[in-house]
Amino acid sequence: MMLENIFLKILSKEIPARIAHEDNLCLAFHDINPQAPVHVLIIPRKVIRTHADITDSDKELLGHLHWVAAKLAQELQIEDGYRIVINCLEKAGQTVPHIHMHLLGGRNLAWPPG
Ligand code: AMP
Repeated sequence: MMLENIFLKILSKEIPARIAHEDNLCLAFHDINPQAPVHVLIIPRKVIRTHADITDSDKELLGHLHWVAAKLAQELQIEDGYRIVINCLEKAGQTVPHIHMHLLGGRNLAWPPG
């Protein structure tokens, strides 16, 4: 079951997070339960519940999130191999109802994922 949108509280700084990047469109912070040596979440400030809800007007925003991911991969020194994951809805493991991109790296990542 999806939890409440805890990421809104991180965006408003109501609850703390270890921030890796911040700009007018998005926030990136380290995952509280990392699945790899580097595990950062990149979220838009705009509330989009899930990947299946994106619209034409979100195309530039989604491109921006990818640009931030590539920039962070360099800064966090995982540019030699990393993975970007967006879990869409409960069946795919989404637990927070605010679209988020996982940036994972710092170890060998197996394929296929579970
Ligand atoms: P997903 O399962 O794709 O919805 O991913 C949600 C992610 O949010 C999980 O990897 C959690 O560990 C992470 N998470 C939940 N609460 C927090 C928090 N307060 N700070 C940082 N990461 C969080």
